[in-house]
Amino acid sequence: MLPHFYYTPEILKYDFGSQHPLRPERLRRAIELISRYDVPILDPGPGSISDLFRVHGEEYVYLVMATSDRLSKGDFSADDAERGHLFSYGFGSGDNPPFAGMYDASLAYCSASAQAAKVVRDGAPLAFGIGGGLHHALKDRASGFCIFDDPAIACHILLEKFERVAYVDIDVHHGDGVQWIFYNDPRVLTCSIHEEGRTLFPGTGGVEETGADFTSFNVPIQARTTGDVWLHAFKETIPKALEAFQPGAVVLQMGTDVHLLDPLAHLRCLQQDWLAAVKIIGDLGLPLVALGGGGYNLMTVPRMWVSGCLTLGGVPFEDELPADLGEQYRMPSYSDHGPAEPSFGKPHADRVIDWLTTQHIPHLRR
Ligand SMILES: [Zn+2]
Repeated sequence: MLPHFYYTPEILKYDFGSQHPLRPERLRRAIELISRYDVPILDPGPGSISDLFRVHGEEYVYLVMATSDRLSKGDFSADDAERGHLFSYGFGSGDNPPFAGMYDASLAYCSASAQAAKVVRDGAPLAFGIGGGLHHALKDRASGFCIFDDPAIACHILLEKFERVAYVDIDVHHGDGVQWIFYNDPRVLTCSIHEEGRTLFPGTGGVEETGADFTSFNVPIQARTTGDVWLHAFKETIPKALEAFQPGAVVLQMGTDVHLLDPLAHLRCLQQDWLAAVKIIGDLGLPLVALGGGGYNLMTVPRMWVSGCLTLGGVPFEDELPADLGEQYRMPSYSDHGPAEPSFGKPHADRVIDWLTTQHIPHLRR
């Protein structure tokens, strides 16, 4: 049985509109699929504004709340000055259009991630908030489809018990929001493996962004890199950084957009490459909060999240999806099958591995 899996349908209301790539359908499908296994789905409760204040400024939180309420009442009368004010907090661009009910929907995913972190803080070995992982949100600003930064909230909750916490982000985008929130906090090691900023949003995440005490750890990967090389780069860097840092607990952001078929990025991982990385983190045996993240292909996201959760929880599963869902998703199995692509990106990855091994990891010895 998979323990401590927190989810509420309220999270499906986190919806920027029909033209936006972050579609609630990807999460709905993941829940439909995981419900076929022995996974009790637990309601995290209504959520608490005090958990938001662990990370976000009051002015920003109340702005999100007020704008959300106003749009819910059908009031779209913002003048230019108000629109400019919203824009200064990250809202209004194509990425983050404000929507009715956005406060409650954002609080819902934060509530699930916070609840997962609280049970791990209180002694559980593993908990899930698959509707979260919104790693771009900044202290006072929405960014990259993310309004509140639930991974950072989860780290703060774990810090109430553990002296050192590691954040591991395998989303194809740099986990910039979490990095900047903890940039000067040596208690949290933020690790992110991602497509390099030269070719992908948010443009950050170079190896030289080390944080005040070397506790920002970045593994930038060249566009078009294949899954074998991505996994090699992961294995040679992040587990070694964790071993040096000796965290008491881990928050894992399980973005799935490294997949070959993801429409927003340019890496070429297969489900099994990604899953191998998830398993490496699970096998560390540290208390673990597992969150969702990016992923924009409806055929790949649900099966990757579900295989990740079941693997972390030690729940056995066949490689075949339940037949009706496999047909619906046009993907009959968890693993990707087909001819292996020739390796790409290794010289770049090896340079990054070498730099991190010699210039960064030695500073992390605790
Ligand atoms: Zn992403």
